[in-house]
Amino acid sequence: MDRDCIAALDQGTTSTRCILFDSEGTPLASHQQEHAQICPRPGWVEHDANEIWFCAQNVLREAWAKAPSARPAAIGITNQRETVVVWDRKTGEPVYNAIVWQCMRTQDFCSEWQRIKGWEQTTAGCGKVKDKTGLLINNYFSGTKLRWILENVGGAKERARQGDLLFGTIDTWLIWNLTGGVRGGIHVTDVTNASRTLLMNIHTLSWDEEMLDFLDIPVSMLPRIEPSSHVYGMTAKSASLDAGIPVAGDLGDQQAALFGQACFEPGMLKNTYGTGLFMLLNTGAALASSQNGLLTTPAYSLENGSCVYALEGSVAMGGATIQWLRDNLRIIDTADDSEYFAKKAKDSGGVYFVPAFSGLFAPYWDMSARGAIVGLTRYARKEQIICAALESICYQTRDILEAMQKDSNINVSEMKVDGGAVVNDTLMQMQADIAGSSVVRPFFKETTALGAAYAAGLAVKFWDSLDTLKRLWKKDRSFAPVITTEERNAKYKKWLRAIEKSRGWDEG
Ligand code: ADP
Repeated sequence: MDRDCIAALDQGTTSTRCILFDSEGTPLASHQQEHAQICPRPGWVEHDANEIWFCAQNVLREAWAKAPSARPAAIGITNQRETVVVWDRKTGEPVYNAIVWQCMRTQDFCSEWQRIKGWEQTTAGCGKVKDKTGLLINNYFSGTKLRWILENVGGAKERARQGDLLFGTIDTWLIWNLTGGVRGGIHVTDVTNASRTLLMNIHTLSWDEEMLDFLDIPVSMLPRIEPSSHVYGMTAKSASLDAGIPVAGDLGDQQAALFGQACFEPGMLKNTYGTGLFMLLNTGAALASSQNGLLTTPAYSLENGSCVYALEGSVAMGGATIQWLRDNLRIIDTADDSEYFAKKAKDSGGVYFVPAFSGLFAPYWDMSARGAIVGLTRYARKEQIICAALESICYQTRDILEAMQKDSNINVSEMKVDGGAVVNDTLMQMQADIAGSSVVRPFFKETTALGAAYAAGLAVKFWDSLDTLKRLWKKDRSFAPVITTEERNAKYKKWLRAIEKSRGWDEG
């Protein structure tokens, strides 16, 4: 029987989606379903892991129903990173809701941790945790969330010590269920997901004893770490799936986007413009340690023991700044209106907008910063503020780009872009001008799902090489800088002054 497609299962923070791709990387069918956001207290965010598994089965079944003649060669998974599930290996029941990456319940623990002798970290995030894991001590990552479950769910620690409980990020939970669950499910993760837990040593690509000891986590509950492109196991027969389909790709969402953008060589970079901004730069086999507020992370691995690394910079307020104009200021009706008004304004008239609503993330990591609009004159109208809001997305991108170039010694000449906001041509042109590099938009914008499909397809030889995948990637449009270097640098200098004004605002 001919196998003529790959299924990508894209499990995101708000929804789960399945896209079937043919051998040209063209989507044949897709289906998407939202799941509930559970917020039991301010700052706490949970998901029902069973609901996520239910949605995953549903979207697989529905996508196949739309392309009934498609024969799957493999399934690839990509997922919201850092979200934690703990379940009983015998019953398959989670012991608590999944604790989502956004959840801040372990913030106090993280603040205390940073003060413990030997674990101190500088404002740029340097310290022992950074050296071992490439990450910062921050409630964003899985380790302290897992510790919270073991400390706070009755009996969990004992059951974990006895070997009755399993831990996983969402990829692990889905693969375990897809491959049979209590009837012999495979308990694995890949290097990209493992690297977001605070528990994996990025040098050895294995669980780090000292991190596990500190957080008091039994190693027996952790999944085996495998490459991102690898046959982990076969699907078990269920109402939504045939038996025997290889589950063969696993990448955290941002790494999947890098892979889906075919950024396979050192110096290649992608920036995702969604709610936040996520930039990853491929640094090759070299592990670039950041002195400038970035994270060091595995980008993907194709075989055991080897890994391609990336530098990562994330910003909280990307497209969300435009949502704020729409929902809070109500000066636009839709996100698309931002382009209309920015074009009308021609420029921001000297107005700078720093959207530090919840502090500044990379490269500043200043949680005391707050939003600021500066440079206002009587000339300024809503058009200038909208224009300045769009420019803030581009300046924040340049902040990260500069940090990346310093940390890696790589001169980036081209940025591949994806995410919901890249439909805005005016924004893309601003980005090229402010960054001084060309901005390249792909034809197929669902790069996260595509990356998961690529990883699975490589593992089962549906595609034979990275070169073949490179040929599948197609450009929609490039934007080249049109302003002079002097103009660009003068504007950027003002942005840095605006940033200074926003910093330290919430202190005392
Ligand atoms: P996520 O995956 O984080 O939910 P998406 O990739 O779906 O985000 O992108 C949605 C974001 O893109 C929203 O924050 C929205 O404000 C922004 N956005 C959508 N269209 C535009 C546009 N034309 N101009 C600027 N921003 C936009």
